[in-house]
Amino acid sequence: MNKINRRDFIRLGGGLTLAGTSLMFPTLALAAAPRVVVVGGGVGGCTAAKYLRKLNPNLKVTLIEAKKQYTSCFMSNEVLSGDRTLDSITFDYEGLKRHGVEIVIDRVTAIEPANKQVATVDSGTFEYDACVVSPGVDFKWDAIEGYDAAVSETIPHAWYAGPQTLTLRRQIESMPEGGRVIIVAPPNPYKCPPGPYERAAQIAMYCKHHKPRAKILILDPKDAFSKQGLFRQGWSKLYGFGTDNAMIEWVGAAGGGIVEELDPSTRTLQAEVEEFTADVINIIPPQKAGKVAYASDLVEGDWCPVNKRTFESKRHPDVYVLGDASSAAKMPKSAYAANSQAKVAAAAIITKFNGADPGDPTFVNTCYSILGEEHGISVAAVYTLDETTNTILPIKGSGGLSPMDASAEQRKREVKYAHSWFKNVINDMME
Ligand SMILES: Cc1cc2nc3c(=O)[nH]c(=O)nc-3n(C[C@H](O)[C@H](O)[C@H](O)COP(=O)(O)OP(=O)(O)OC[C@H]3O[C@@H](n4cnc5c(N)ncnc54)[C@H](O)[C@@H]3O)c2cc1C
Repeated sequence: MNKINRRDFIRLGGGLTLAGTSLMFPTLALAAAPRVVVVGGGVGGCTAAKYLRKLNPNLKVTLIEAKKQYTSCFMSNEVLSGDRTLDSITFDYEGLKRHGVEIVIDRVTAIEPANKQVATVDSGTFEYDACVVSPGVDFKWDAIEGYDAAVSETIPHAWYAGPQTLTLRRQIESMPEGGRVIIVAPPNPYKCPPGPYERAAQIAMYCKHHKPRAKILILDPKDAFSKQGLFRQGWSKLYGFGTDNAMIEWVGAAGGGIVEELDPSTRTLQAEVEEFTADVINIIPPQKAGKVAYASDLVEGDWCPVNKRTFESKRHPDVYVLGDASSAAKMPKSAYAANSQAKVAAAAIITKFNGADPGDPTFVNTCYSILGEEHGISVAAVYTLDETTNTILPIKGSGGLSPMDASAEQRKREVKYAHSWFKNVINDMME
């Protein structure tokens, strides 16, 4: 019988700093082997599956994922600058198998809480004692007239890394010198709050070398965005932001940045005040919880409400919703957040199997953005649950933004940290 104590669990977090929880564990000896079914083999699902098995190797853990391989969205903006290939961010599930996780490649049609079953398209049903759901986001296709899933094949969102990332890259490569790229940013909340702004910088990185007269315009339905001061500073330094010669321009809601309509045939966007045409358009649509969460009655509004101490669904017991699909304010929808939440949920599931109460959770998030070959910025925080407001709040003094007056050496080092973080999180979730 394997036992694990809190120190061991934190050590299991490896290079990824805090393990994401401060729960005290009772002995994990279990009478029978409970079954956990994990829906979605992204960051939240993989991390939960791996850590459940690490916490109790007797558990039967089955992960059901629709795709044979996982292509990470994080670092996919680097494919757009040409700094990395899609292959370098694509991974299989062999590592999880080595942890004793059963992998089923199939699409889940619904979780059926009444029968404690998960139904799939081809593989039948799976019974569970606890079910973890981390299906990511889906898009609200009715937000911009003229833009839908079919049109996104030619005017890509590339907000799931994969074929659309390559389409966008090819379009940027074949754009004429002096051409214009428009990125339409989404309203809050959405996955990876700094992502659209890093994307603009990564496209500019490519254009600076290959199409120095190109322009990248961000049309934004918001008036403020994540790490805004640091982005503006980096864009100014690297891409002339704010000058007549700016390669990157940003128009917020107050300036007319809300896009209402797309005419795909002429590549024209109708915004609130003005019409814009472009050689390349990248629309990142507004977002909501992944489809299967709706099919499983887990959603209220656009996201899945959870008990923020455990990530157990507020709508159905023994179902745990993690990552982008969950309503976990004020944590951002990020890979690091999903990874951290998964460890809290894994600990809570084991604790519940043992008939004990969960302890006080802590969570962690760091988000890097790479603006140039030697220019990285970041935001970091350690979070805890504030019961009175039922909000996951950053612990005062636990993190912060990288300094506005950072040296060139520090900015260069943040790029290295970003790449190192990427390797660590992949390793932590699936190796
Ligand atoms: C351009 C970009 C850059 C980003 N950069 C960063 C970054 O630098 N740092 C960071 O922390 N985060 C970053 N993110 C955000 C990060 O990718 C997400 O927050 C993270 O992947 C969320 O994990 P998840 O488990 O909720 O969902 P995902 O990782 O999206 O995984 C969901 C999985 O569920 C599967 N699935 C869905 N429905 C079903 C079903 N019915 N049946 C079976 N399987 C299903 C999907 O195939 C998918 O594999 C970035 C995102 C983007 C778009």
